[in-house]
Amino acid sequence: MKVTEHIKNANGNTLFSFEILPPLKGQNVQSIFDNIDPLMEFKPPFIDVTYHREEYVYKELENGLLQKKVVKKRPGTVGICAAIQNKYRVDAIPHILCGGFTKEDTENFLIDLDFLGIDNVMALRGDAVKTETYFKAEKEGHHYASELVTQISDLNKGTYLDEDLLNSSCTNFCVGVAAYPEKHMEAPSLDSDIHFLKKKIKNGAQYIVTQMFFDNNRYFEFVEKCRRESITVPIVPGLKPIATKKQLNLIPHRFHVDLPEDLILEVVKCQNNEQVRQLGIEWCVQQSKELQKAGIPVLHYYSMGKSDNIKAIASQVF
Ligand code: FAD
Repeated sequence: MKVTEHIKNANGNTLFSFEILPPLKGQNVQSIFDNIDPLMEFKPPFIDVTYHREEYVYKELENGLLQKKVVKKRPGTVGICAAIQNKYRVDAIPHILCGGFTKEDTENFLIDLDFLGIDNVMALRGDAVKTETYFKAEKEGHHYASELVTQISDLNKGTYLDEDLLNSSCTNFCVGVAAYPEKHMEAPSLDSDIHFLKKKIKNGAQYIVTQMFFDNNRYFEFVEKCRRESITVPIVPGLKPIATKKQLNLIPHRFHVDLPEDLILEVVKCQNNEQVRQLGIEWCVQQSKELQKAGIPVLHYYSMGKSDNIKAIASQVF
């Protein structure tokens, strides 16, 4: 079922959903099930599975020269989605990127998803590869998520890249896109970022999931701005509980979001990571309860491969 239908069927109740990462190459799919199992009692209508593009690593050879190797550390997004749908009968939402994909790769990827009975996709540009400063599209690929959304919308109308295809069948994907209440790191301003977000909606995206934030006011202000710009689709908040002291520096650096002063001071006072974890749970519960009270349709949690703190939060909120 489509995310938009899940929201409609919830009749105003706030739904619980979460995102997982495919396991590192070499690990068993059971590690994923072990993380999902404890969260199933909260009846997630859908589970997102991230996509991880290839990275370049350099291996030192015996003669001292460096050999460049392309590796994908977390393959298996589509397989995990199929496994989730099969095991739990819950909608799995694969993330799909512009980065590393030609338009032809994208089309074939979408055909696989369609055959697997997947109804939703999360369309993203992806970041620059780790060894480069700026995002670079493939020669025959998309530069922005809005272009990827157009390709998916075209396929939903039965328009394939090969215009000579006759009687081609239409897919029926519901498309989600990303947004950043504190602005995407490359955007010159929040207004500019919202301008391009609007383009993703115009091209066919039907819901939005936000980057994590730790101050609900940032989310509420962002939603208000979007509504003023006539963006009417659901804007699902992304939430992540802080779990270690190190994340005080890691989260702003990696995700370009601010941590509220109150939270920082409380984390600094903690004597060990178990205390930070507890604090993170309490903070996220407060955030969740306020969002729920405001009638937000879905709260989406970034599990980052660990479900114990998400379970602790969900059991106090849902
Ligand atoms: P876009 O919407 O293309 O925007 C990228 C930047 O370009 C923005 O600054 C925007 O303002 C600007 N822009 C857009 N269109 C134009 C235009 N026409 N002209 C000029 N500027 C423009 N990454 C992964 O690798 N795998 C994942 O699974 C993944 N999942 C994510 C899930 C969520 C909910 C979020 C919030 C992010 C996720 N990311 C993931 C990270 C994401 O790929 C990065 O944040 C990426 O840098 C931007 O992706 P986007 O889809 O928002 O890009």
